Amino acid sequence: RSSAEKFEFQAEVSRLMDIIINSLYSNKDIFLRELISNASDALDKIRFLSLTDKEILGEGDNSKLEIQIKLDKENKVLSIRDRGIGMTKEDLVKNLGTIAKSGTSAFVEKMQTSGDLNLIGQFGVGFYSVYLVADYVEVISKHNDDKQHVWESKADGAFAISEDTWNEPLGRGTEIRLHLRDEAQEYLEEGKLKDLVKRYSEFINFPIYIWGSKEIDVEVPADEDESNDGEESPETSSEEEDDAEKSEDEDSEKPKTKKVKETTYEWELLNDVKAIWLRSPKEVTEEEYTKFYHSLAKDFSDDKPMAWSHFNAEGDVEFKAVLFVPPKAPHDLYESYYNSKKSNLKLYVRRVFISDEFDELLPKYLSFLLGLVDSDTLPLNVSREMLQQHSSLKTIKKKLIRKALDMIRKIAEEDPDESSDKEKKDAQKSSGDDDEKKGQYTRFWNEFGKSIKLGIIEDATNRNRLAKLLRFESTKSDGKLTSLDQYISRMKSGQKDIFYITGSSKEQLEKSPFLERLKKKNYEVIFFTDPVDEYLMQYLMDYEDKKFQNVSKEGLKLGKDSKDKELKESFKDLTKWWKTHLSFDNVDDVKVSNRLDNTPCVVVTSKYGWSANMERIMQSQTL
Ligand code: ADP
Ligand code: MG
Repeated sequence: RSSAEKFEFQAEVSRLMDIIINSLYSNKDIFLRELISNASDALDKIRFLSLTDKEILGEGDNSKLEIQIKLDKENKVLSIRDRGIGMTKEDLVKNLGTIAKSGTSAFVEKMQTSGDLNLIGQFGVGFYSVYLVADYVEVISKHNDDKQHVWESKADGAFAISEDTWNEPLGRGTEIRLHLRDEAQEYLEEGKLKDLVKRYSEFINFPIYIWGSKEIDVEVPADEDESNDGEESPETSSEEEDDAEKSEDEDSEKPKTKKVKETTYEWELLNDVKAIWLRSPKEVTEEEYTKFYHSLAKDFSDDKPMAWSHFNAEGDVEFKAVLFVPPKAPHDLYESYYNSKKSNLKLYVRRVFISDEFDELLPKYLSFLLGLVDSDTLPLNVSREMLQQHSSLKTIKKKLIRKALDMIRKIAEEDPDESSDKEKKDAQKSSGDDDEKKGQYTRFWNEFGKSIKLGIIEDATNRNRLAKLLRFESTKSDGKLTSLDQYISRMKSGQKDIFYITGSSKEQLEKSPFLERLKKKNYEVIFFTDPVDEYLMQYLMDYEDKKFQNVSKEGLKLGKDSKDKELKESFKDLTKWWKTHLSFDNVDDVKVSNRLDNTPCVVVTSKYGWSANMERIMQSQTL
């Protein structure tokens, strides 16, 4: 078209599209899920804006928040339309081609190694999956602030945008037209589409209609020859379903008629919009929770979430919530820990989606959780900024943290590998699905353990609860993970402190002279080998009234030995000699100690100073 303005795709986007076009990936269905999800997002946005501005929705059909699907077999076009917020010309340019999101290159990279196209939605580039099935795509869009425009591309590195003067006006929203590739004609089969939509849209909160065909019997005058065939006007009511009898008319009394089959079209509703979180947890099956998780996470693998918690909070602040522990950590969980603001919790107020970037609901260290909160207490008709300051949020947050930590604790409790012998017997009696839960907490710890440690550092209120969830190896853990409670149960009589040592690896620490004496005396020592552990131990001072003692630091007490005093006396001159020769610039003090066995002497750091390991970490950070 002459009036079309041409644009080039941003380089990364272009690469992404090449990968999609040339992909041999067999599950091409995913494009539909991505388009429905985008339509639903667009509807959420307009509904949110309408809370403070009623006019925005307009009148008549325009105000219906719905999604419509149409199949055009003749032209091989599948179209999906929503009455969402729509896109201005500028939005079309930016969102569909020129601005690469942070996930674009991450996804391209992933696809070059062990890529699963199924994950495309998680990387924020789901739209481009249309090119799995189409070789030419048109996006017609009308936003309240602009005229209607058409975006089009054959995925050849460029796209074009024109002001739309030829299509039917949309009123508001977006219609995506997929000109299907020859090998993707199956997406014009009504039955296939219905199945897919039902499968992928189970948790979409807007009605989805398909322009479906239906064979009905109509009576036509028997004497009139087939002169008016095919001219019957189609049923267009979107409200009625299965109303086959309706078109029988009063004329059926008359004798000279005959029955003929005729195909009519009508809008057929494909989903029932019922929020899972409003149901009683007892009525929701495991399979439903898993599917709900997949739709929230945009993760359509077979992985089940590790755990979930669905509850109803009552009292001053009422809300319903569902929280999930994902099966795996997202690709960028710790990469962007301090600068990302993205939470994975969706906030609804009275069934209306408000935001999924609401950071006041969960602390950062729990940002690996997924889920949603729907509150009846929060006000609906205020701006997001006002909502962010609402006093109920604090209460909601507090309860969410508690529930989240309970849910994580239960992963450990239900894991037969975790419990002590007595508990194990009880668990075996009661639970049949031991195999599935076996090793579950280790898996949790490997994926999200760092988050628990960050929680101990950041959340003083819940420090003890979080410390209970801590796992580590020790001189007695036999290569497995163990907990503080288990450590305490193994403590020697008379042992007051919990001993630990920090370093870069367990192998290195096992050879440490600091352990000689402790091992010989059969004391257990915890190995902390993650760089974050040094910070962790600056915050975790005690647990169940036991103090933590770094065995490479000053202050290690292993019980009094009768010879201590004697030894101190007899080495008095030697210690003095050492002190003067080392001078105070290098050491604070020289002492006789009972912490060693074979090694003659060690350098110990002071109680309040950095450990040697911390010095190592700090040095590597400044390099
Ligand atoms: P994501 O949905 O994760 O943002 P997509 O690649 O699916 O990534 O979509 C890119 C962007 O295009 C969306 O963020 C949105 O701004 C815009 N968009 C896509 N589809 C629609 C639609 N039906 N209505 C309005 N905007 C849309
Ligand atoms: Mg999307």
